[in-house]
Amino acid sequence: MRSPYVYHRRQTHAVAVVGHDNVPRVLADLRTVAISRMEDLAQIGHVYDPITDKWSTSDQAAEFLYMGSAPLPFMAPAGTRQLLDVTVWLNHDDHFFCVPVFTIDEWRRIPQRHTVMNIVRCVADELTVEVLHELAEDASVVLMIGSPSDAYFSAMRECCDRILAAHVHMPVILEYHSHTDTIDDGVLDASTDVGGLLVEGFGDAVMITLSAIRGLDTATSVRTAFGILQAARTRMTKTEYISCPSCGRTLFDLQETTAMIRSHTDHLKGVKIGIMGCIVNGPGEMADADYGYVGSGPDRITLYRGQEIVQRNIPSAGAVDALIDIIRNDGRWVEKNY
Ligand code: SF4
Repeated sequence: MRSPYVYHRRQTHAVAVVGHDNVPRVLADLRTVAISRMEDLAQIGHVYDPITDKWSTSDQAAEFLYMGSAPLPFMAPAGTRQLLDVTVWLNHDDHFFCVPVFTIDEWRRIPQRHTVMNIVRCVADELTVEVLHELAEDASVVLMIGSPSDAYFSAMRECCDRILAAHVHMPVILEYHSHTDTIDDGVLDASTDVGGLLVEGFGDAVMITLSAIRGLDTATSVRTAFGILQAARTRMTKTEYISCPSCGRTLFDLQETTAMIRSHTDHLKGVKIGIMGCIVNGPGEMADADYGYVGSGPDRITLYRGQEIVQRNIPSAGAVDALIDIIRNDGRWVEKNY
């Protein structure tokens, strides 16, 4: 029986770069987004430079582009794959760098397959144990599973239980659509629903689509997906800050100080920095941070490496530079690329 107190990632086999011990991948849902120029992909982390004719990729760039029925009018950036509805894929020239997406019905009717990866997209309720066993006969199958957002978590969790009971090991893409009044509400909903599944060990990739009254925002959707993976500790792509909520004991302006530390360190991928207002409770509240910046008196800061004090009661004026020196001496500092 799975312990609710211990993180276990569901065991899956790898299909290309999805599943097994690969980090969870991020898909961008571009089916309703007009993409006509290479520059249009900057919103999902792929920046094209027409002078050098080269792509550069950010740490938070989507790896799979779900184009549906409208393939890109140019070659996709290196390292990415387009996902096309199977009826479109069949007539497309590129049967390797483009990956077909089937419904369950299409999977049964259409015999053509990609040689490496085939995605079967379905809603959670469709995946009975019998269907799971049928799909598991082909080792190239990756499931893309969604469910209406009003009962997403419970439906997906039941589905995950069926997958575990069936002892099948296909990788799973968690598909999530939110239609809220504001993007902020969508981010919160996605974080609780998708994040809840990830911390329980389900999900080898995520595709989040946030739409709100002010329209689709693909950049926010992709950023949210990476943020949720980071918060679930399943894929670290940026610096992590752990700061206390502040209270009567707080010894400095927490928001201002956090913003200042962030401006110097937000390029340190995977480093966790705790910023705590007082030394009474701060060290306990930042227990899993790599470094700590803790108020220990008026204009005084104590710096930590993990739970160990490295510099005690130093003037706050030089504390950020001292923190950077500690990170540098640990070999974890890289220069910022402006
Ligand atoms: S760490 Fe200290 S200042 Fe921050 S909320 Fe806790 S008690 Fe208050």
